[in-house]
Amino acid sequence: MMATKHILIVPGDGIGQEVTAVGKKVLDKIAAKFGHTFTYDEALIGHVAIEATGVPLPDESLEKMRKSDAVLFGAVGHPKYDNDPSAKVRPEQGLLKMRKELGLYANLRPIKLFDELLGASSIKPEILKGADILFFRELTGDIYFGEKGRKNNGDTAFDIAEYSRFEVERIARKAFEAARTRRKKLCSVDKANVIETSRLWREVIQKIAPEYPDVEVEHQFVDATAMLLIKDPRRFDVVVTANLFGDILTDEASQIAGSMGMLASASVGDGTGVYEPIHGSAHDITGKGVANPLASILSAALLLDISFGMKAESEAVIAAVDKVLKEGWRTRDIADAATPADKILGTDRIGEEVL
Ligand code: ATP
Ligand code: MG
Repeated sequence: MMATKHILIVPGDGIGQEVTAVGKKVLDKIAAKFGHTFTYDEALIGHVAIEATGVPLPDESLEKMRKSDAVLFGAVGHPKYDNDPSAKVRPEQGLLKMRKELGLYANLRPIKLFDELLGASSIKPEILKGADILFFRELTGDIYFGEKGRKNNGDTAFDIAEYSRFEVERIARKAFEAARTRRKKLCSVDKANVIETSRLWREVIQKIAPEYPDVEVEHQFVDATAMLLIKDPRRFDVVVTANLFGDILTDEASQIAGSMGMLASASVGDGTGVYEPIHGSAHDITGKGVANPLASILSAALLLDISFGMKAESEAVIAAVDKVLKEGWRTRDIADAATPADKILGTDRIGEEVL
Protein backbone atom coordinates (compact mmCIF):
# COMPACT_ATOMS: atom_id res chain seq x y z
CA MET A 1 0.00 0.00 0.00
CA MET A 2 1.42 3.34 -1.07
CA ALA A 3 1.22 6.03 1.57
CA THR A 4 1.77 9.76 1.94
CA LYS A 5 3.49 10.87 5.15
CA HIS A 6 4.89 14.13 6.49
CA ILE A 7 8.19 13.81 8.35
CA LEU A 8 9.75 16.58 10.44
CA ILE A 9 13.56 16.66 10.45
CA VAL A 10 14.94 18.16 13.68
CA PRO A 11 18.75 17.92 13.49
CA GLY A 12 19.57 20.01 16.59
CA ASP A 13 23.23 20.44 17.48
CA GLY A 14 26.70 19.11 16.69
CA ILE A 15 26.82 15.84 14.74
CA GLY A 16 22.99 15.79 14.94
CA GLN A 17 23.12 17.97 11.81
CA GLU A 18 25.39 15.57 9.94
CA VAL A 19 23.80 12.24 10.82
CA THR A 20 20.17 13.36 10.49
CA ALA A 21 20.82 14.51 6.91
CA VAL A 22 21.97 10.96 6.12
CA GLY A 23 18.97 9.41 7.90
CA LYS A 24 16.67 11.56 5.76
CA LYS A 25 18.39 10.42 2.56
CA VAL A 26 17.70 6.80 3.51
CA LEU A 27 14.02 7.66 4.08
CA ASP A 28 14.00 9.16 0.56
CA LYS A 29 15.43 5.96 -0.90
CA ILE A 30 12.75 3.90 0.90
CA ALA A 31 10.00 6.16 -0.43
CA ALA A 32 11.32 5.71 -3.99
CA LYS A 33 11.77 1.95 -3.59
CA PHE A 34 8.31 1.28 -2.14
CA GLY A 35 6.35 3.98 -3.99
CA HIS A 36 5.51 6.12 -0.96
CA THR A 37 5.41 9.91 -0.89
CA PHE A 38 7.30 11.42 2.04
CA THR A 39 7.18 15.19 2.46
CA TYR A 40 9.57 16.97 4.83
CA ASP A 41 9.97 20.10 6.87
CA GLU A 42 12.72 21.16 9.31
CA ALA A 43 12.54 22.67 12.79
CA LEU A 44 14.98 24.10 15.34
CA ILE A 45 15.81 22.73 18.79
CA GLY A 46 18.74 23.06 21.22
CA HIS A 47 21.68 25.44 20.96
CA VAL A 48 20.93 26.32 17.32
CA ALA A 49 17.40 27.31 18.40
CA ILE A 50 18.75 29.44 21.28
CA GLU A 51 21.10 31.23 18.86
CA ALA A 52 18.30 31.91 16.38
CA THR A 53 15.36 32.63 18.67
CA GLY A 54 16.55 32.87 22.30
CA VAL A 55 14.69 29.71 23.41
CA PRO A 56 15.67 26.00 23.17
CA LEU A 57 12.31 24.89 21.74
CA PRO A 58 10.41 27.63 19.89
CA ASP A 59 6.61 27.32 19.71
CA GLU A 60 6.91 27.13 15.94
CA SER A 61 8.98 23.93 16.25
CA LEU A 62 6.48 22.41 18.65
CA GLU A 63 3.59 23.24 16.30
CA LYS A 64 5.43 21.59 13.41
CA MET A 65 6.07 18.49 15.57
CA ARG A 66 2.39 18.21 16.48
CA LYS A 67 1.36 18.46 12.84
CA SER A 68 3.84 15.91 11.46
CA ASP A 69 3.42 12.13 11.24
CA ALA A 70 6.82 11.51 12.84
CA VAL A 71 9.97 13.35 13.91
CA LEU A 72 13.53 12.32 12.99
CA PHE A 73 15.64 13.99 15.66
CA GLY A 74 19.42 14.43 16.03
CA ALA A 75 20.88 15.64 19.32
CA VAL A 76 21.06 18.72 21.52
CA GLY A 77 23.99 20.14 23.46
CA HIS A 78 26.90 22.52 23.22
CA PRO A 79 30.16 22.51 25.22
CA LYS A 80 29.79 26.21 26.08
CA TYR A 81 27.10 25.29 28.66
CA ASP A 82 29.20 22.56 30.33
CA ASN A 83 31.37 25.12 32.09
CA ASP A 84 28.52 27.47 32.84
CA PRO A 85 26.24 25.76 35.35
CA SER A 86 24.49 29.08 35.98
CA ALA A 87 23.19 29.38 32.39
CA LYS A 88 19.43 29.79 32.68
CA VAL A 89 18.63 28.82 29.11
CA ARG A 90 20.12 25.44 28.09
CA PRO A 91 19.79 23.20 25.01
CA GLU A 92 18.64 20.17 27.07
CA GLN A 93 15.57 22.10 28.25
CA GLY A 94 14.34 21.87 24.67
CA LEU A 95 14.51 18.09 24.83
CA LEU A 96 12.63 17.81 28.14
CA LYS A 97 9.98 20.25 26.93
CA MET A 98 9.53 18.29 23.69
CA ARG A 99 9.00 15.03 25.64
CA LYS A 100 6.55 16.66 28.01
CA GLU A 101 4.56 18.60 25.40
CA LEU A 102 4.27 15.60 23.06
CA GLY A 103 3.41 13.23 25.95
CA LEU A 104 6.26 10.84 25.07
CA TYR A 105 5.94 8.41 27.98
CA ALA A 106 7.62 5.35 26.47
CA ASN A 107 11.25 5.22 25.43
CA LEU A 108 12.12 2.22 23.27
CA ARG A 109 15.70 1.14 22.83
CA PRO A 110 16.46 -1.91 20.72
CA ILE A 111 19.80 -3.49 21.62
CA LYS A 112 20.86 -5.59 18.67
CA LEU A 113 24.39 -6.57 17.90
CA PHE A 114 25.22 -6.96 14.23
CA ASP A 115 27.31 -10.16 13.86
CA GLU A 116 30.08 -8.28 12.05
CA LEU A 117 30.62 -6.10 15.13
CA LEU A 118 30.90 -8.93 17.66
CA GLY A 119 34.53 -8.01 18.22
CA ALA A 120 33.70 -4.34 18.98
CA SER A 121 31.92 -5.16 22.23
CA SER A 122 33.65 -5.44 25.57
CA ILE A 123 31.70 -8.67 26.24
CA LYS A 124 32.84 -12.08 24.97
CA PRO A 125 31.45 -12.98 21.49
CA GLU A 126 30.20 -16.43 22.57
CA ILE A 127 27.99 -14.81 25.22
CA LEU A 128 26.76 -12.07 22.90
CA LYS A 129 26.11 -13.69 19.53
CA GLY A 130 22.45 -13.31 18.66
CA ALA A 131 21.56 -10.98 21.56
CA ASP A 132 18.46 -8.98 20.62
CA ILE A 133 16.68 -7.02 23.36
CA LEU A 134 13.98 -4.35 23.18
CA PHE A 135 13.83 -2.06 26.23
CA PHE A 136 10.76 -0.07 27.22
CA ARG A 137 11.75 2.64 29.69
CA GLU A 138 8.97 4.71 31.26
CA LEU A 139 9.87 8.34 30.61
CA THR A 140 7.52 10.72 32.40
CA GLY A 141 7.22 9.50 36.02
CA ASP A 142 9.27 8.10 38.91
CA ILE A 143 11.80 9.80 41.17
CA TYR A 144 12.73 12.30 38.40
CA PHE A 145 9.44 14.15 38.57
CA GLY A 146 8.23 13.80 42.20
CA GLU A 147 8.67 16.39 44.91
CA LYS A 148 12.30 17.06 45.79
CA GLY A 149 13.92 19.23 48.37
CA ARG A 150 16.01 19.71 51.47
CA LYS A 151 15.21 19.73 55.14
CA ASN A 152 17.14 19.79 58.37
CA ASN A 153 18.89 23.06 57.37
CA GLY A 154 19.85 21.57 54.02
CA ASP A 155 21.67 18.61 55.54
CA THR A 156 18.98 16.11 54.47
CA ALA A 157 17.77 15.78 50.87
CA PHE A 158 14.78 13.87 49.49
CA ASP A 159 13.27 12.87 46.14
CA ILE A 160 9.82 11.35 46.03
CA ALA A 161 9.13 8.57 43.53
CA GLU A 162 5.56 8.31 42.33
CA TYR A 163 3.69 6.12 39.84
CA SER A 164 -0.02 5.81 39.19
CA ARG A 165 -1.74 2.62 38.01
CA PHE A 166 -2.58 4.44 34.78
CA GLU A 167 1.06 5.33 34.09
CA VAL A 168 2.29 1.77 34.66
CA GLU A 169 -0.49 0.19 32.68
CA ARG A 170 -0.08 2.30 29.53
CA ILE A 171 3.63 1.49 29.13
CA ALA A 172 3.11 -2.15 30.15
CA ARG A 173 0.53 -2.56 27.38
CA LYS A 174 2.96 -1.16 24.80
CA ALA A 175 5.58 -3.66 25.98
CA PHE A 176 3.14 -6.61 25.90
CA GLU A 177 2.05 -5.65 22.37
CA ALA A 178 5.69 -5.48 21.23
CA ALA A 179 6.49 -8.86 22.82
CA ARG A 180 3.67 -10.36 20.77
CA THR A 181 5.43 -9.36 17.55
CA ARG A 182 8.79 -10.77 18.73
CA ARG A 183 9.81 -13.85 20.74
CA LYS A 184 6.82 -13.44 23.11
CA LYS A 185 8.81 -13.00 26.30
CA LEU A 186 8.38 -10.04 28.62
CA CYS A 187 10.66 -9.31 31.56
CA SER A 188 9.34 -6.70 33.98
CA VAL A 189 12.08 -5.16 36.11
CA ASP A 190 11.43 -3.69 39.55
CA LYS A 191 12.62 -3.72 43.16
CA ALA A 192 9.35 -4.92 44.65
CA ASN A 193 11.05 -6.45 47.69
CA VAL A 194 11.84 -2.94 48.98
CA ILE A 195 10.15 -0.14 47.00
CA GLU A 196 6.42 0.66 47.09
CA THR A 197 6.18 2.06 43.53
CA SER A 198 7.76 -1.24 42.42
CA ARG A 199 5.06 -3.19 44.27
CA LEU A 200 2.39 -1.25 42.38
CA TRP A 201 4.36 -1.82 39.16
CA ARG A 202 4.39 -5.60 39.69
CA GLU A 203 0.73 -5.64 40.73
CA VAL A 204 -0.31 -3.89 37.50
CA ILE A 205 1.77 -6.21 35.29
CA GLN A 206 0.29 -9.26 37.02
CA LYS A 207 -3.22 -7.89 36.65
CA ILE A 208 -3.05 -7.33 32.88
CA ALA A 209 -0.86 -10.34 32.00
CA PRO A 210 -3.88 -12.71 31.55
CA GLU A 211 -4.99 -10.48 28.64
CA TYR A 212 -1.82 -11.54 26.81
CA PRO A 213 -1.82 -15.33 27.33
CA ASP A 214 0.59 -15.82 24.43
CA VAL A 215 3.29 -13.74 26.20
CA GLU A 216 5.46 -15.40 28.84
CA VAL A 217 6.04 -12.95 31.71
CA GLU A 218 8.83 -12.95 34.25
CA HIS A 219 9.60 -10.50 37.05
CA GLN A 220 13.20 -9.67 37.89
CA PHE A 221 14.73 -7.38 40.49
CA VAL A 222 16.79 -4.57 39.02
CA ASP A 223 20.01 -5.70 40.70
CA ALA A 224 19.65 -9.23 39.31
CA THR A 225 18.87 -7.77 35.87
CA ALA A 226 22.06 -5.71 35.89
CA MET A 227 23.99 -8.93 36.47
CA LEU A 228 22.04 -11.05 33.95
CA LEU A 229 22.48 -8.52 31.13
CA ILE A 230 26.21 -9.15 31.19
CA LYS A 231 26.09 -12.83 32.11
CA ASP A 232 23.46 -13.97 29.62
CA PRO A 233 21.99 -11.19 27.44
CA ARG A 234 20.32 -13.68 25.09
CA ARG A 235 17.79 -14.67 27.76
CA PHE A 236 15.99 -11.32 27.29
CA ASP A 237 13.43 -10.41 24.62
CA VAL A 238 11.32 -7.40 25.70
CA VAL A 239 12.20 -5.66 28.98
CA VAL A 240 9.89 -3.09 30.61
CA THR A 241 10.93 -0.93 33.52
CA ALA A 242 10.53 2.37 35.36
CA ASN A 243 12.30 5.62 34.48
CA LEU A 244 15.31 5.41 36.84
CA PHE A 245 15.99 1.67 36.43
CA GLY A 246 15.58 2.07 32.66
CA ASP A 247 18.03 4.95 32.52
CA ILE A 248 20.74 2.85 34.11
CA LEU A 249 19.98 -0.51 32.47
CA THR A 250 19.78 0.89 28.92
CA ASP A 251 23.19 2.53 29.25
CA GLU A 252 24.59 -0.74 30.57
CA ALA A 253 22.98 -2.65 27.70
CA SER A 254 24.30 -0.18 25.11
CA GLN A 255 27.72 -1.74 25.69
CA ILE A 256 26.38 -5.03 24.35
CA ALA A 257 26.18 -3.36 20.95
CA GLY A 258 29.71 -2.01 21.09
CA SER A 259 29.39 1.53 19.81
CA MET A 260 27.24 4.56 20.59
CA GLY A 261 27.15 5.22 16.86
CA MET A 262 25.01 2.11 16.22
CA LEU A 263 22.08 2.54 18.61
CA ALA A 264 18.71 4.03 17.84
CA SER A 265 15.78 4.93 20.07
CA ALA A 266 12.13 5.84 19.80
CA SER A 267 10.07 7.95 22.17
CA VAL A 268 6.37 7.40 21.78
CA GLY A 269 3.14 8.31 23.49
CA ASP A 270 -0.27 9.23 22.23
CA GLY A 271 0.86 11.79 19.65
CA THR A 272 3.79 12.21 17.27
CA GLY A 273 6.68 9.76 17.83
CA VAL A 274 10.27 11.02 18.01
CA TYR A 275 13.15 8.89 16.68
CA GLU A 276 16.77 9.58 17.53
CA PRO A 277 20.24 8.07 17.97
CA ILE A 278 21.16 7.43 21.61
CA HIS A 279 24.40 9.36 21.21
CA GLY A 280 24.62 13.09 21.84
CA SER A 281 25.97 16.08 19.95
CA ALA A 282 29.66 14.92 20.13
CA HIS A 283 31.26 18.30 19.50
CA ASP A 284 34.72 16.70 19.55
CA ILE A 285 34.04 15.27 16.07
CA THR A 286 31.52 17.83 14.77
CA GLY A 287 32.28 19.20 11.31
CA LYS A 288 34.93 16.57 10.60
CA GLY A 289 32.65 14.38 8.51
CA VAL A 290 33.55 11.23 10.47
CA ALA A 291 30.41 10.72 12.62
CA ASN A 292 28.75 7.33 12.24
CA PRO A 293 25.27 7.90 10.72
CA LEU A 294 24.08 4.30 11.20
CA ALA A 295 22.26 5.11 14.48
CA SER A 296 20.28 7.81 12.68
CA ILE A 297 19.58 5.42 9.80
CA LEU A 298 18.42 2.76 12.29
CA SER A 299 16.26 5.44 13.97
CA ALA A 300 14.64 5.99 10.58
CA ALA A 301 13.98 2.22 10.47
CA LEU A 302 12.23 2.43 13.86
CA LEU A 303 10.19 5.39 12.61
CA LEU A 304 8.98 3.43 9.60
CA ASP A 305 8.01 0.45 11.74
CA ILE A 306 6.44 2.13 14.77
CA SER A 307 4.88 5.36 13.49
CA PHE A 308 4.00 4.23 9.96
CA GLY A 309 3.48 0.48 10.47
CA MET A 310 5.83 -0.13 7.53
CA LYS A 311 7.41 -3.38 8.64
CA ALA A 312 8.89 -4.44 5.28
CA GLU A 313 10.36 -0.97 4.71
CA SER A 314 11.90 -0.98 8.18
CA GLU A 315 13.39 -4.42 7.67
CA ALA A 316 14.80 -3.29 4.31
CA VAL A 317 16.74 -0.53 6.09
CA ILE A 318 18.10 -2.88 8.75
CA ALA A 319 19.09 -5.45 6.11
CA ALA A 320 20.85 -2.71 4.13
CA VAL A 321 22.87 -1.69 7.20
CA ASP A 322 23.74 -5.34 7.78
CA LYS A 323 24.89 -5.66 4.16
CA VAL A 324 27.13 -2.58 4.40
CA LEU A 325 28.80 -4.06 7.50
CA LYS A 326 29.15 -7.48 5.82
CA GLU A 327 30.84 -5.80 2.86
CA GLY A 328 33.37 -4.51 5.36
CA TRP A 329 32.53 -0.79 5.27
CA ARG A 330 33.15 0.98 8.58
CA THR A 331 33.19 4.43 10.08
CA ARG A 332 36.13 5.21 12.33
CA ASP A 333 34.30 4.43 15.60
CA ILE A 334 33.47 0.85 14.55
CA ALA A 335 36.74 0.10 12.76
CA ASP A 336 39.42 -1.99 14.45
CA ALA A 337 43.11 -2.68 13.93
CA ALA A 338 42.27 -5.23 11.20
CA THR A 339 40.14 -2.79 9.12
CA PRO A 340 41.94 -1.78 5.88
CA ALA A 341 42.24 2.02 5.59
CA ASP A 342 40.28 2.07 2.30
CA LYS A 343 37.29 0.46 4.05
CA ILE A 344 36.90 3.36 6.50
CA LEU A 345 34.35 5.85 5.18
CA GLY A 346 33.09 9.25 6.29
CA THR A 347 29.52 10.11 7.29
CA ASP A 348 28.08 10.81 3.84
CA ARG A 349 29.95 8.08 1.98
CA ILE A 350 28.82 5.23 4.26
CA GLY A 351 25.29 6.64 4.01
CA GLU A 352 25.48 6.29 0.22
CA GLU A 353 26.29 2.61 0.63
CA VAL A 354 23.04 2.01 2.55
CA LEU A 355 20.31 1.00 0.07
P1 ATP B 1 26.18 15.35 24.58
O1 ATP B 1 26.71 16.33 25.58
O2 ATP B 1 25.23 15.97 23.59
O3 ATP B 1 25.70 14.07 25.17
P2 ATP B 1 28.77 14.30 24.14
O4 ATP B 1 29.87 15.22 23.74
O5 ATP B 1 28.67 13.78 25.52
O6 ATP B 1 27.42 14.96 23.66
P3 ATP B 1 28.14 11.75 23.07
O7 ATP B 1 27.45 11.78 21.78
O8 ATP B 1 27.39 11.48 24.31
O9 ATP B 1 28.95 13.09 23.16
O10 ATP B 1 29.28 10.67 22.84
C1 ATP B 1 30.49 10.53 23.53
C2 ATP B 1 31.61 10.29 22.53
O11 ATP B 1 31.35 9.16 21.70
C3 ATP B 1 31.74 11.47 21.57
O12 ATP B 1 32.58 12.43 22.11
C4 ATP B 1 32.26 10.84 20.30
O13 ATP B 1 33.65 10.84 20.29
C5 ATP B 1 31.73 9.42 20.35
N1 ATP B 1 30.54 9.29 19.49
C6 ATP B 1 29.25 9.49 19.83
N2 ATP B 1 28.44 9.32 18.80
C7 ATP B 1 29.20 9.01 17.74
C8 ATP B 1 28.93 8.74 16.34
N3 ATP B 1 27.70 8.74 15.84
N4 ATP B 1 29.99 8.45 15.56
C9 ATP B 1 31.23 8.44 16.03
N5 ATP B 1 31.54 8.69 17.32
C10 ATP B 1 30.55 8.98 18.17
MG1 MG C 1 26.85 12.40 26.31
